[in-house]
Amino acid sequence: MQVPLIDLKAQYAQIREGVEQAIREVCDSQYFVLGPKVEEFERRIAEYTLASHAIGVSSGTDALLVALMALDVGPGDEVVTTPYTFFATAGTIARLGARPLFCDIDGATFNLDPSAVADLLGAHCERDGANLVNKRTGGRVRAILPVHLFGQMADMDALLEIARGYRLPVVEDAAQAIGAELGDDRRAGSIGDIGCFSFFPTKNLGAFGDAGMCVSNDAELAERIRKLRVHGGHTKYLHDEVGGNFRLDALQAAVLLVKLGYLDRWTQARRANAARYGRLLEAAEIAEYVTPPLAGEGRHIFNQYVIRAERRDELRFSLADEGIRTEVYYPHSLHEQACFANLGHAPDDFPNARLAAAETLALPIYPELTTEQLEYVVARIADFYRS
Ligand SMILES: *Cc1c(COP(=O)(O)O)cnc(C)c1O
Repeated sequence: MQVPLIDLKAQYAQIREGVEQAIREVCDSQYFVLGPKVEEFERRIAEYTLASHAIGVSSGTDALLVALMALDVGPGDEVVTTPYTFFATAGTIARLGARPLFCDIDGATFNLDPSAVADLLGAHCERDGANLVNKRTGGRVRAILPVHLFGQMADMDALLEIARGYRLPVVEDAAQAIGAELGDDRRAGSIGDIGCFSFFPTKNLGAFGDAGMCVSNDAELAERIRKLRVHGGHTKYLHDEVGGNFRLDALQAAVLLVKLGYLDRWTQARRANAARYGRLLEAAEIAEYVTPPLAGEGRHIFNQYVIRAERRDELRFSLADEGIRTEVYYPHSLHEQACFANLGHAPDDFPNARLAAAETLALPIYPELTTEQLEYVVARIADFYRS
């Protein structure tokens, strides 16, 4: 049996007609950048994420970049974030000339650990007038950037409380978490000051190329992002400030509008697969794995189903031999990346992130995965640990 990590062709088969029709409409209109389709998609994403404003942008990376630009993050600044995430989270901070200020993750949820953040800000930073200064580097701490990794919300209540105490804005990297909720129906992206989404094809809501979105409940920030998205000026050839080309294409918006209608069904299927994995892995009584923990009552949307596994790489090769594709998100913690050597971190500075990078394995969880395929995956994992 073959089990891919994700099967976008199976997804496309369900929606082909609607998508082709939507693409045809854009072709007939010859309106390709921003415009009515993008505006409609922005309205729908604002509704879906329970945010007052949504601004379509060119990718999840650009959503993060423009969000930090709207907060005036720049040289001499530092942004608190996790070292266990996709590169873009920290990369965008560095691109603005600022420093990622890494804090370790919670070993159980893989998300930024609020107590590590409180510790860092309390013990290693000091207030200097309106600024919060990192005593070691002299940099100004300007924002907190948690990631809702794999589709599960970071501990936003604790992080927001810390942020409020220091008057720091919070930018949510919700690239993997569209539709994820805290226990009380608050949705990913609209809880902090700005939320950033990616519609990269393998995200739960995936475009036919690159696309992203910023959401916010702050009208001024939203307006600033709108302006930065088009080179810093709403009036053609007049620029209040230096922005960039962070625009969303109409073709992507058209495809995404069709797919948005299916998103809750697909998320439900992912959650059902996760529950099935949980039951089967438990029944298989294998000591070496740990199923993904669910924090509180929230709604995990399972962009990835990530287990911890002893002898992870051996397990991965063994599953590959049986036709099962898995992936490691992420094999290296960001504090160990060559491009961040200037930050001066030792490998053991963030032990939970380091351990996660060595132990985690993402299993196939996509909505079209069949029960037979899922049972086959668990059976092969059980075989591996028994032999
Ligand atoms: C996918 C992703 C991004 C970047 O999104 P792109 O659309 O690929 O630029 C940023 N952060 C996280 C956590 C992601 O998973």
